[in-house]
Amino acid sequence: MKEMLFVGRGGQGVVLASQLLADTLARAGYWVQSFPEFKAERRGAPISAFLRWDEAPIHRRYKVRECDVLVVISASPPSPEIIGCVRPGGLILLNRETRFPHVGPYEIARVPGSFIARRNSVLSSEGRPMGNVAVLGACVRLLVPDGLEFLEQAIVSRMGTRAEANVVAAREGYERCTVQRRVAGDTAVEPATGPAVSGRRQSHARFPVSRTDSLLNHTGSWSEDRPVLTGECTACALCALFCPEGAIARTDHAMVIDYLYCKGCGICEVVCPVRDAITMEEVSA
Ligand code: SF4
Ligand code: SF4
Repeated sequence: MKEMLFVGRGGQGVVLASQLLADTLARAGYWVQSFPEFKAERRGAPISAFLRWDEAPIHRRYKVRECDVLVVISASPPSPEIIGCVRPGGLILLNRETRFPHVGPYEIARVPGSFIARRNSVLSSEGRPMGNVAVLGACVRLLVPDGLEFLEQAIVSRMGTRAEANVVAAREGYERCTVQRRVAGDTAVEPATGPAVSGRRQSHARFPVSRTDSLLNHTGSWSEDRPVLTGECTACALCALFCPEGAIARTDHAMVIDYLYCKGCGICEVVCPVRDAITMEEVSA
């Protein structure tokens, strides 16, 4: 049996990716199991989904804690804690164009999923690239090389009239997947240090979640994009009403964003009634 972990942010199609791959593997003749894990926070917050597949019925009924394959749907790099879930000899698939430090006993493969999504207009309702399907194309190439047709069938079955661009993105992900070679100069990604709580440090969660006072949980570290206010902003404060983190506020007739807590969900941009008053820009990794 193989076990797989999908990670990303709420709104990036992490759960959908896991379900589509499960459907693909089922069509290819495997027994499959797929289920997600949600915390209290959704959009913009860390999300994981689990997938098992085997040639025989699967009897495990608990979440995947160690995996053979880690699929990172989000374009931001995985934390050392998440990489630590990969079994020796396992595979990490990244939504990424550039090299990722390769220092562990695992293989690394890359596919520019977000780039492919943008080029094929596979976008979220807020206009962000949905790299999940292109990453799935790469997954299929690495796991079941003869299974692209099954992935296409799974996409069409799930998405109906919206399937066409997603199928094209999946094919492109399949074509553009590359397995990274090891380089002697690579160094490990350092673990981030958590904030002090009651005089002691929090132990590292493998999947960062809100486990304490919301003021101590710096959700800004989840951010892949961040909102930037422009001169068009009228300080009407509508965005502040909708911000799930309370990260945007009006002071002295101007809006201020607290990037320590802004998780980059983009809700403020969606609800803003003034054209170009707020734009989202990528946070560099
Ligand atoms: S960004 Fe938009 S919603 Fe927020 S205060 Fe400015 S104009 Fe209002
Ligand atoms: S400021 Fe905007 S992007 Fe940041 S958390 Fe609030 S709604 Fe989301």
